[in-house]
Amino acid sequence: MKTPLSSTTLLRPRTLSEALAMLRDEGPLTPVAGCTDLYVGFQFGTVDARRFLDLWPLDELRGVQHDVRTLRIGALTTFADIIASPAARRLVPMLVAASREIGGKQIQNRGTIGGNIANASPAGDSLPVLAAADAILELRSAAGTRRVPFNEFYTGYRTSVRRADELIASVEIPPIQGTQWWRKVGTRRAQAISKTMLAAVRPVSSRGRVARGTWRIAIGSVAPTVLRLRHTEAVLDAGASIDDACQALVSEIAPIDDVRSTKEYRTAVSANLLRRFWTETA
Ligand SMILES: Cc1cc2nc3c(=O)[nH]c(=O)nc-3n(C[C@H](O)[C@H](O)[C@H](O)COP(=O)(O)OP(=O)(O)OC[C@H]3O[C@@H](n4cnc5c(N)ncnc54)[C@H](O)[C@@H]3O)c2cc1C
Repeated sequence: MKTPLSSTTLLRPRTLSEALAMLRDEGPLTPVAGCTDLYVGFQFGTVDARRFLDLWPLDELRGVQHDVRTLRIGALTTFADIIASPAARRLVPMLVAASREIGGKQIQNRGTIGGNIANASPAGDSLPVLAAADAILELRSAAGTRRVPFNEFYTGYRTSVRRADELIASVEIPPIQGTQWWRKVGTRRAQAISKTMLAAVRPVSSRGRVARGTWRIAIGSVAPTVLRLRHTEAVLDAGASIDDACQALVSEIAPIDDVRSTKEYRTAVSANLLRRFWTETA
């Protein structure tokens, strides 16, 4: 049954500090950013919460900034903003590629990177990119700020270390050395939730010099949370063949049968994605 919206309350802070104070003093409150995930939940009656905190007016949480060390993306930054950002295009093309395939234009205009992360779906398309990028999340509460490595953020299926009084404020992406790659497999291009998707970085080597950086492979939709494939990376770092790397990948993932796909299909396609990354970035 649909959630009756008349039974809900929406608090509307004007500043980030007001929002954090509301989370501390008037919680529990569920943050609302672009509402593209939450609205689906209202439609299917799967949202238990009734009290919400509207983040949309908080411009402090919006935008892509770049300095010599990091690219910083505010949590309220939409996928359309990321696609339009020259700094994001130059420094994290794999994130821009993923953003282009997140829903259609309407979803890209409204859906935010913070919402994608906080929603914690293993099928969130930005998540393998952030895992491969070794991103850092900035979590803010009225009590202060903490920085959590993205690869330590999720604790299990749709659970994370984020406390109820904390907001995701931004995502920091350190410089990435190597060739970035991203590919999604779904029923339709964009609009469809991924059956599997892979973000990867290949170290750069030129004229026989030692390669800079290391292999980085992250995959979504094949386990309760996004996975960074450390064993597969180690196999590639050791100079093994792509066949050995595919075997390592299959040993690291734990796909299931669900409404979108089967375990067998996801396993085969995930290995195919790794092969394709290998070939296309050679
Ligand atoms: C038609 C359609 C197609 C879609 N296609 C895709 C797709 O291809 N790929 C994909 O990955 N997703 C897809 N989605 C899902 C969704 O659009 C994304 O997950 C989007 O990034 C969610 O962002 P939002 O701002 O709308 O989140 P909201 O719906 O506002 O919030 C989602 C969750 O995050 C929490 N939250 C939001 N912001 C914060 C914050 N700053 N701090 C703490 N908690 C926060 C909310 O409390 C809620 O639990 C699709 C959705 C629809 C309806």
